[in-house]
Amino acid sequence: KKNDVKGFFIRNAFVIMTVAAVIIGIILGFALRPYKMSYRDMKFFSFPGELLMRMLQMLVLPLLVSSLITGMAALDSRASGKMGMRAVIYYTTTTVIAVFIGIVMVLIIHPGKGSKAEFSKKPPIEQVNTADAFLDLIRNMFPPNLVEACTKQFKTQYGKRIVHVTVTVNDSIVTVNGSQQITQEEMIPIPGSVNGINALGLVMFSMCFGLIIGKMNEQGQPLRDFFDSLNEAIMRLVAIIMWYAPVGILFLIAGKIVEMEDISAMGGQLGMYTVTVISGLLIHAVFVLPTLYFIVTRKNPFGFIAGLLQALITALGTSSSSATLPITFKCLEENNKVDKRVTRFVLPVGATINMDGTALYEALAAIFIAQVNDYSLDFGQILTISITATAASIGAAGIPQAGLVTMMIVLTSVGLPTDDISLIIAVDWFLDRLRTTTNVLGDSIGAGIVEHLSRHELQKKDPELGNSVVVE
Ligand code: ASP
Repeated sequence: KKNDVKGFFIRNAFVIMTVAAVIIGIILGFALRPYKMSYRDMKFFSFPGELLMRMLQMLVLPLLVSSLITGMAALDSRASGKMGMRAVIYYTTTTVIAVFIGIVMVLIIHPGKGSKAEFSKKPPIEQVNTADAFLDLIRNMFPPNLVEACTKQFKTQYGKRIVHVTVTVNDSIVTVNGSQQITQEEMIPIPGSVNGINALGLVMFSMCFGLIIGKMNEQGQPLRDFFDSLNEAIMRLVAIIMWYAPVGILFLIAGKIVEMEDISAMGGQLGMYTVTVISGLLIHAVFVLPTLYFIVTRKNPFGFIAGLLQALITALGTSSSSATLPITFKCLEENNKVDKRVTRFVLPVGATINMDGTALYEALAAIFIAQVNDYSLDFGQILTISITATAASIGAAGIPQAGLVTMMIVLTSVGLPTDDISLIIAVDWFLDRLRTTTNVLGDSIGAGIVEHLSRHELQKKDPELGNSVVVE
């Protein structure tokens, strides 16, 4: 019996350590709050967490590229075409459902009511042209320079308060006005970028490149071997970083709690808004996605989710679905035994474009801002919000609070004041963590569903090899 208990702890060591890290982080954070640390001390305190973020982000670029290339190369074009279709249908369906839930929740709960006096009606400002933003999204799919796509960073030059941010994207100047309180130098994500990397462009390139080298005969073998081995090596690095993850998560969470603004700001409308977003995300994550998984696969969705726990907690700790990507891979492949040919293809694309939590939040927040301004929206405008919220979630980078920036597109599309983004900034760090967790869950369940639907093609390839990658 003693061995059973020991076995349980050994088997679940990572999950237990990660859950413990969250609990200790929360306790430590609240215990240290009364001491009102200085900005510098806070930075020291959060340092172990910052290191985790950097380690994970370090792996994203090679992981994204090598997994997509090997994933595509391992499939014949018919199989990858079918799998791609299924993934796209899954992404679209779940995003549309998420937006719908967001809209229904905000219309039913109506968190923005009763405040006409507090906020004056501001004339609609139009800084970001929605059509330009769409074009940028597509433009970024085709990076003219691959090296630049891996390195380009867009930074604001401002210290404390941003008023105007001008970003040059492919020679067109996009000016964004906002009064966000950004306390340190931060990147302004370009549509489809991850961590300053043009992920959308790299995803496109890697997919095409993988397909091509998969079709080549012996000539393609060195390239297939190279990327396969690169992918394997990166995954081994991930295994090492996983040991450090609980420490990093502990300090990320404790640091954020120490640093966060007074919680009394959560009262009134903002409190109701927070409750509305949380309820929407919960419905999507705890009900819609698991039900969808069950309907398609007839397997227990919660067993599947249990295998993902570490990835979900990492998403909660880092607020970044792209930084979580390495851990998501590990959880799906090792705990849930999802076929690598599926994860390598579905996860990188999902982390870049499929963001259910962000889509839900964008639509909900935009309507909340309309409610606060006592601005009534007609059906056409709500439809516009749902379309732009979907686009904004595709364009949002998988980095902390990227959704807040792409929300400008949603607001301007219906003439709502972008300045009012500042109303929701106080709680965004928290909601961001929850929507990131939903995003990661959406990608992972997608991998499970696509694997199930593609089981025939996967089997046809080579039934003996099962979970391993098959190269023609
Ligand atoms: N932080 C989110 C993510 O990484 C994006 C967002 O801001 O909604 O998935």
